[in-house]
Amino acid sequence: MNLNLFGHADQWLMVDCGITFNEPLTPDASHKHDVVCADPSFIEARKHKLAGIIITHAHEDHIGALPALWQRFKLPVYTTPFTAEILRRKLNKMNKPVPATIIEVNTGDCIDIGKFNVTWLMTNHSIPEPHGLVIRTEAGNIFHTADWKIDKFPMTDKPFQIEQFKALAKENITAMVCDSTNALLEGHSASESDCYDGLLHAVKKAPQKVVVTCFGTNIGRLITLARVAQKTGRYLALFGYSLKNTVAAAKRTGHWPEDCLIQDPKYIAYLPPEEIMVVATGSQGEPYAAMNKLAKQSHSDLELVAGDTVIFSSIVIPDNKEKVANLVAAFRAQNIHVIDNDNSEKVIHASGHPNQEELRALYDWVKPEIAIPVHGEAAHIKANAKTARETGVRIQLIGENGDLYRLAPQVSLRRKAVATGRISLDQ
Ligand SMILES: [Zn+2]
Ligand SMILES: [Zn+2]
Repeated sequence: MNLNLFGHADQWLMVDCGITFNEPLTPDASHKHDVVCADPSFIEARKHKLAGIIITHAHEDHIGALPALWQRFKLPVYTTPFTAEILRRKLNKMNKPVPATIIEVNTGDCIDIGKFNVTWLMTNHSIPEPHGLVIRTEAGNIFHTADWKIDKFPMTDKPFQIEQFKALAKENITAMVCDSTNALLEGHSASESDCYDGLLHAVKKAPQKVVVTCFGTNIGRLITLARVAQKTGRYLALFGYSLKNTVAAAKRTGHWPEDCLIQDPKYIAYLPPEEIMVVATGSQGEPYAAMNKLAKQSHSDLELVAGDTVIFSSIVIPDNKEKVANLVAAFRAQNIHVIDNDNSEKVIHASGHPNQEELRALYDWVKPEIAIPVHGEAAHIKANAKTARETGVRIQLIGENGDLYRLAPQVSLRRKAVATGRISLDQ
């Protein structure tokens, strides 16, 4: 539930406004407070000092709370076209008007927002148009990476542009605020093109129908799957609202290749089994998603039979382990072949976050004075700080929610400077 505040000269800049789920998710339907976000009381009490809101990308942990909280601030939101399109669709679905302007920015744009000068630098991730931000002030410059990885062969946007990050070293970056999600993993993350090879291998071997599940916002993976369908002579259909919604947003913003055709799900079952490929929502075992319906043989558009193949092109979020295990068991009980990360011969999922080798590379290119690891649990943040230290970053600041990082003129960390917590977004 990312919500970052950058302060300078009595003004604030908000970066991201996301949600998370209260843990553990209770199976009890009467429990109504599962969707939560960071308590914005601190900035709400000073909203006259808030210069603007930036959303770095369209993942729920960065954008999810904005439709609910935006009304409280009524300030312009700066974001790129794909994320803006997702935001408009969210508000539309909730029957809410857009409370203030959405200012669409593009890669390389440099904009003054109050006393902050912000440049958008494109990275790679698991959703279109991920951006890091260079936030310049009179007191110093911050590079906020947001969620990122290095992908030399991505399926959306451009390959990682090393030169723009090397250029940052020349203008003295005071602090680099950096994604820690995969900081415990050695080496380099897999490329989306590795997934293409792995998924092509798996689909080629499947004798009958193929159903693949992945995260609904991963347009790169959906393009990979569309290309695999083309190559193997299958027709592709999408099952589930979130997939259709993100593909529609991708089409509208120029991220969907025109030659990747999608069939109407209603007619897919009339084709011969070896020509059918479906991408379905519900990789985390969500009870009402398409995957669960397919496992229970209650999906209105397709029936799976023994010998069909189901592929999980995703990771299992730890809290969902049991639900996913039940889903896999339900398919296997019907002799439906299940391929997941554990039994796949090749790579069928690539993470959107950097491993240690990528962290080292970026610290080395940017050469910040201070590393501020964020976006992870304590162990990930510690591992990211260790990598920063080993790469020659002089100072690492490890803090928690509500801590105030003073970056200039003196560096310090004021613990629990701001009261934080979670508020429920459920009705
Ligand atoms: Zn993300
Ligand atoms: Zn994130």
